[in-house]
Amino acid sequence: MNYPDWTNANAYCKCCVSRTGEGEKMQDIQSVSSEQIRSDAKKLKKEGRAFIGGEYVASLSGKTFQCVSPVDGQAVVDIASCDKEDVDRAVQSCRQAFEDRRWCSKSPSQRKSIMLELANLIRKNRQELAVLETLDMGKPIKESFNTDIPLAADCIQWFAEAIDKIYDEIAPTPETSLAMITREPLGVVAAVIPWNFPLLMAAWKLGPALAAGNSVLIKPAEQSSLTAIRLGALCIEAGIPEGVVNIVPGLGENAGKAIGLHPDVDAVTFTGSSQVGKFFLEYSGQSNMKRIYLECGGKSPHIVLGDCHDLDEAAQGVASGIFYNQGEVCNAGSRLLVEKSIKGEFLERVVELGKKIQPSDPWDMKTEMGAIVDSSQLDRILGYIETGSREGAKIVLGGERVNQETGGLFVQPTIFDGVSNEMTIAQDEIFGPVLSTIEVESLEQAIEIGNRTQFGLAAAIWTRDVKKAHLAARRLRAGTVWVNCFDHGSITVPFGGFKQSGIGRDKSLHAIDKFCEMKTTWLNLS
Ligand code: NAP
Ligand code: MG
Repeated sequence: MNYPDWTNANAYCKCCVSRTGEGEKMQDIQSVSSEQIRSDAKKLKKEGRAFIGGEYVASLSGKTFQCVSPVDGQAVVDIASCDKEDVDRAVQSCRQAFEDRRWCSKSPSQRKSIMLELANLIRKNRQELAVLETLDMGKPIKESFNTDIPLAADCIQWFAEAIDKIYDEIAPTPETSLAMITREPLGVVAAVIPWNFPLLMAAWKLGPALAAGNSVLIKPAEQSSLTAIRLGALCIEAGIPEGVVNIVPGLGENAGKAIGLHPDVDAVTFTGSSQVGKFFLEYSGQSNMKRIYLECGGKSPHIVLGDCHDLDEAAQGVASGIFYNQGEVCNAGSRLLVEKSIKGEFLERVVELGKKIQPSDPWDMKTEMGAIVDSSQLDRILGYIETGSREGAKIVLGGERVNQETGGLFVQPTIFDGVSNEMTIAQDEIFGPVLSTIEVESLEQAIEIGNRTQFGLAAAIWTRDVKKAHLAARRLRAGTVWVNCFDHGSITVPFGGFKQSGIGRDKSLHAIDKFCEMKTTWLNLS
């Protein structure tokens, strides 16, 4: 991963100190034991209420659901279970803020500096946010601390800095006219978020939507509401006016559906499964034709050709491409398409690497693989492993649930050999640490099989032949193609899918356009 190294930034965080119970101090998580982090995580104050109109409020019905940590199976806090009435309230708050222009009429430089402050506050509270993220969804604290939270801050900063650098357009017209093409905010944007990178995915939506001048409603996934809820208070602390950002935790079929059907939401930007993405298209058609942007699943082909310049490096890319974040990554390279001439020796290398990435205590700063987000996701993964074996593929690594004694939900890195592209494990998105190996005879066949899926989020190819690399990059039907690397990138480039992997792109300046109306103003000067 070419992520920035933040390991030395903000080693001690005052805010965490004030938020742990009874004056307890939260220690610098980089210099203490996993037991200490675990005990600090327990003491950390957790907010479970919705954030509407600038304050934390219970759901109108008073209903809650329990947040359970996949790290140890312990209950963490009750989360407000928002329904249609709460969504109405939050949309009204967003709408009011948009209509009185308390955010969009601020000068670009003012909005920029407020959003820069939000990025700073995310960095200042990095330790607390990282602990909440790991507690909530089980990823290793090392990843929450070094990747998720810093990248969320970077994302907000990047879109903040863009605000006063984007110009509108003047169209070519006769001298007697002036035609301006301007962008205006849409109004109320709702962001519906998945659980695999909770704060980072929220930032990918919030950054460009806020930069464009919209009000934003965030619905986190039910498995991972804590950092989004905390973000509400940070927005106010940064100076974003009350009502501009509202956070509505709740179940998909209640809060999510109410958002989708709401007549006063102008756009939904969603990350999650293709199945739920399709629901949002229906909700839009049944209500107000709101814009729907979808970042959905994937089944990315990871192609390794016989002429690959460095099989060790490629094996590293393949292993981290499927095992990073417990395999709960939409662009995971879950299908390894490897050329026959090197298959045996290459797969051995990937298996050796997989053996070293065993799931263990998420609170340990050395842990590479953490817990699976919840028991239904765990069952889904184990179910697919069973299906793979039943359909005739051969397990060459892992395949089992482990560490049950911790109360947590852990699955071994799992590799199947002898997979054909028609098998269920080659077609369905498993969203877990399960790699399907498919042998291919040629580049042509790799491209053909690579494309034979309903998805088109990402693809990768390892080859030393520049012609083959170009050909593959052109012909692979995917939003991102990596050549001789995997999962490289930055906020500067768009991310999203072809086919049923989605509609629209997150990241880069292109993301801002999604949250703008385009207006033509024609002036008669004759
Ligand atoms: P999900 O079940 O589709 O849920 C995504 C969001 O939609 C959650 O907030 C969820 O709420 C909500 N939702 C669920 N059912 C709904 C309904 N009937 N109406 C309205 N909203 C509803 O996906 P997930 O479980 O969070 O995440 C896993 C999936 O996300 C995978 O398929 C993965 O590939 C995809 N993903 C894609 C990307 C990308 O960038 N392309 C990134 C990350 C994840 P609840 O939490 O209450 O169910
Ligand atoms: Mg879900």
